[in-house]
Amino acid sequence: MNIKDRLKHQSLKTKWMLTTGVAILISYAAICIVIFIALHTWLLANEEKNALRTVDDMSSFFASQGLTVTIQDLQNQTGLMKAILNQDQTVRLYQLDGKEILQINNTSPAANLAIFFSSPNETIIDETTLDGRDVYVMHRLVHIGPIQYVLQLVHPLTAFQSIMRYIFTTMLMMGVGAVLLAAIISYYASNVLIRPLRQLRNSMIAVKEQGFETQVDFEYDAKDEIGDLLRIYESMLHELKISFNRQQQFISNASHELRTPIQSMEGHLSLMKRWGKNDPDVLEESLDTTLNELARMKQIMEELLQLARKESIAENASTDVEAVVRQVSTELQFIYEEVTFDTSVVGQPKHAAISNEALLQIIRNLYENSIRYNGNMPYIKTMIHYENDHVYIEISDNGIGIAEEHLPYIFDRFYRVDDARVHVEGSTGLGLSITKMLIDKYGGEIEVHSQMGKGTVFLLRLTIKM
Ligand code: ADP
Repeated sequence: MNIKDRLKHQSLKTKWMLTTGVAILISYAAICIVIFIALHTWLLANEEKNALRTVDDMSSFFASQGLTVTIQDLQNQTGLMKAILNQDQTVRLYQLDGKEILQINNTSPAANLAIFFSSPNETIIDETTLDGRDVYVMHRLVHIGPIQYVLQLVHPLTAFQSIMRYIFTTMLMMGVGAVLLAAIISYYASNVLIRPLRQLRNSMIAVKEQGFETQVDFEYDAKDEIGDLLRIYESMLHELKISFNRQQQFISNASHELRTPIQSMEGHLSLMKRWGKNDPDVLEESLDTTLNELARMKQIMEELLQLARKESIAENASTDVEAVVRQVSTELQFIYEEVTFDTSVVGQPKHAAISNEALLQIIRNLYENSIRYNGNMPYIKTMIHYENDHVYIEISDNGIGIAEEHLPYIFDRFYRVDDARVHVEGSTGLGLSITKMLIDKYGGEIEVHSQMGKGTVFLLRLTIKM
């Protein structure tokens, strides 16, 4: 496995730490190398300048001694000349035949003598090693009295080298420190950032293994990308949980709804088989029940089909709301004489953007519910309110009401408030889901408010047809 593959399988934390560590190391090393080279060049040039200055000073000193001065005179003045030199520089004077005649200081041995100058003022500069020490060696022709000599200066680079070593050690130590510090900081930072991701992963594994009921609780609440990710995940999980529960509920309700009439028909058919041939009463009653159950199953199937059908929206649908409301109440008044319908209109009437059939069914479903779930003489109040781009239809009744805990579910398929009412005639638990489906289809909205024992209010909002 090469490094890339190996790195690929490391945890995010290791990747993070390695990346920061390497990045810091490389940048630090690059900066250090540049600084080190710059310092090296600058300090070395400085050393050369110092050595040259000493050579110049010595030449000027010899020149200033006049034409009559002798070597013996100078040998007596070494103290003065020592003052011109640094204490670790050594100067030697040679005759042109190579014989040494004067030495000031003795910190370095003599270097090879250079006596071939291209011009009388030339300074020959060499960088070499003497006795294992790096040194600058400089040669120049000087005049003492009338005679020409060669001056040799040996300038050791020990001080310069120890400064460079010191800088190098400091940089190295600071580098190690910086990388260690970076590693510690990135370890903690990665821990802080990666912990929520780990929690997310663990939560996903738990959901995968144990289902949607698994509790998720993230401690990370920062408003950054990771925080957003966790919040999105939580809300998605919540939605999934709800839709999963609804699905489960739907399947169990649907199978229950269909099982009951089938069982009942089965019972009556075997009753007919055993006794019905001879007993016309049993035959009659069982046939009636079976037909009723069949009708009920047919209704359920039709309503389910209606819900499942993806009809296209009637593009130019436009309906007179008041006319539809009055048509439905007139129809129902025939069947339920005891019901009072009270309809009023506010605002300038306009047509709503919905098909006639859809609105008929919506109003019919809501009115039938108001009549069905009502212990009193049903009183149904309808207010149609036209306002700008919308028409609001408010239908309130004096029925038994719906308890608050049921309100969020009454638009779900097969949802009925409690089983005691299962036998309410014509009740399938599908009416309101069809109503909501139709309203959604035409871009409308429906909401419900209810108070137990007082009544229920359905508020519809539909768009006006432009
Ligand atoms: P159903 O076919 O049972 O009427 P719906 O979907 O129309 O199904 O209604 C769902 C449930 O909501 C009903 O079972 C009923 O308990 C409750 N409900 C609906 N409308 C009303 C109302 N106006 N007053 C009281 N309860 C209502």
